[in-house]
Amino acid sequence: MAIQRAETADQARDTVNGWQTDGLSVGFVPTMGALHEGHLSLVRASVAECDRTVVSIYVNPTQFGPGEDLEDYPRRLERDCRAAEQAGADLAFCPADRAMYPEGYSTWVVQEGLTEVLEGEHRPTHFRGVLTVVCKLFNCVPADRAYFGQKDFQQTVVVRRMVRDLNMPVSIRVMPTVREEDGLAMSSRNAYLNEAERRQALCLYRALGEAHRLYRNGERHADALRAAMERVIAKAPLARADYVDIVDARTLRRAESADEQAVAVLAVRIGKTRLIDNHPLGEEFPEH
Ligand code: AMP
Repeated sequence: MAIQRAETADQARDTVNGWQTDGLSVGFVPTMGALHEGHLSLVRASVAECDRTVVSIYVNPTQFGPGEDLEDYPRRLERDCRAAEQAGADLAFCPADRAMYPEGYSTWVVQEGLTEVLEGEHRPTHFRGVLTVVCKLFNCVPADRAYFGQKDFQQTVVVRRMVRDLNMPVSIRVMPTVREEDGLAMSSRNAYLNEAERRQALCLYRALGEAHRLYRNGERHADALRAAMERVIAKAPLARADYVDIVDARTLRRAESADEQAVAVLAVRIGKTRLIDNHPLGEEFPEH
């Protein structure tokens, strides 16, 4: 079936409501486009679990800070719609900026506690933008389930908290990080990397692997795990870490000792490109 397209909230909501009236379950995959296998794995998960699948493709300006890559962010709408269709999606919701943020827009979803650390410390307005757009998208696409990637670990935690705190009637599903052959987490931002940067970008995956290896060998001092990750990053001359940390998966607080709830997280600039990755230490490491 050819993918349908919706450009306004009403079009998207009417289609979703129609399916639900017919007794069909609806899955939703919010994205900023430039779709890769990571995004498509979420679409496939939704297609497997739900009768209908909606993908949104919207580069949300409010989650970018000043001086970030909003202007350069890759936009490939036609290709994205074809890829979403091939992965089995039924509807692409592609709103224009003026439909999402009309003149005089002034309402925000702000969360306290989980959003000031890690990404929030380095991108202070990021999660206000993310939560606002996700809330708006959930109102436009009132799906039964919404799919997010483990790749953006903090985002999954803050979205789950918003859904719980605001009684949103949607169930959040988090799917594993999809990686390139060598282990680099897929990201739309990988397209910014030149050849040398692409090689050194592997330091994120290697640092996570090192933390995992030490944890498996019994190391429980979070500081030792952090130091080991930092040593791996320091070997890549083009890499500069924004943060390298071991945090508790529920609170996102810095862990003193690592347990099954601990997640290794990092954000590293490779040249001008900022990449993030993470690995829950209690889980198997994805060897590449
Ligand atoms: P984005 O377009 O970057 O906003 O991402 C849209 C969704 O795709 C988010 O839930 C991301 O966590 C998810 N995603 C991005 N990259 C990956 C990946 N490599 N593996 C799994 N999910 C991903």
